[in-house]
Amino acid sequence: MSVLYKNHVIDRNYSGLSKKALLTLWADRIGKPFRPRYLLSDSVKVIKGEKIGYLTGVCYMSNAVKIAGVATCSHAVKAGCVEPCLAMSGHMSLAGAVEARADRLSLLIKDTALFFEILSRELKALEKAAKRKRFKVAGRLNGTTDLDWTRITFNGATIFEHFPRITWYDYTKNPKIAQAYSDRGVSVTFSYYKKAATADLLHLLDRGVNIAIAYRDTLPITQSIGGRSVEVINGDLHDLRFLDKKGAIVGLKYKNQTMHKKAAEVNATAHESGFIIFSNSVIN
Ligand code: SF4
Repeated sequence: MSVLYKNHVIDRNYSGLSKKALLTLWADRIGKPFRPRYLLSDSVKVIKGEKIGYLTGVCYMSNAVKIAGVATCSHAVKAGCVEPCLAMSGHMSLAGAVEARADRLSLLIKDTALFFEILSRELKALEKAAKRKRFKVAGRLNGTTDLDWTRITFNGATIFEHFPRITWYDYTKNPKIAQAYSDRGVSVTFSYYKKAATADLLHLLDRGVNIAIAYRDTLPITQSIGGRSVEVINGDLHDLRFLDKKGAIVGLKYKNQTMHKKAAEVNATAHESGFIIFSNSVIN
């Protein structure tokens, strides 16, 4: 059985520890010196959600790696998205950010119960901050991973179930994860790539799962998929995908990589692999 996809028993001793003691344990578990670490952060795009009354916490961990038998992005190679991934763009590509994502993933794998305890405290703090501002709370666990959080339980319940007042949402490139989230009523948007089966795309649309597509030029008004004309909505206004109308394409404007060491190559690969498409592309 996977070290991750199972039920994890929470060590009751953790709940009585101070924040500093928890961070000391985190450092110990991953074999690194103590320093302030956190699991949740935001981004320019999720901050846009504050204008419409949402505080959002996102967990960013290492993309496209395999650790202890767990692949953080099962479909990344097929999708051709490893290099053009958000994780390798802008400030996300700086050494400190890369290390912070690795430290979070390392904790998740090495002591999942401790990860849950720290995450729970950060989520409660986010809920408190939102209450003070009279905001609502949204959460994304797969900022730069593609894990199936419906299969990771803590004392028998998923994180979604432990924190039902938070509106959870995510993106995935794995049709099975899209289906699992949809079955559990968790908002999920499928991220398009050229090798995705058109039948899967149509099936997901019929289930109310939207498809996000990154466009190289401009956003079209409609997108042809399997002979069907589907409305394209602008996904760049904010990241709160659960507010989008259902059965739509979420159009995103691809931002060329500039800080990546091989930026030109990455941008070319993104197009060739079908990670991004032109607005007049037809998906058959
Ligand atoms: S699956 Fe998503 S998070 Fe993983 S490498 Fe691809 S774009 Fe990045």
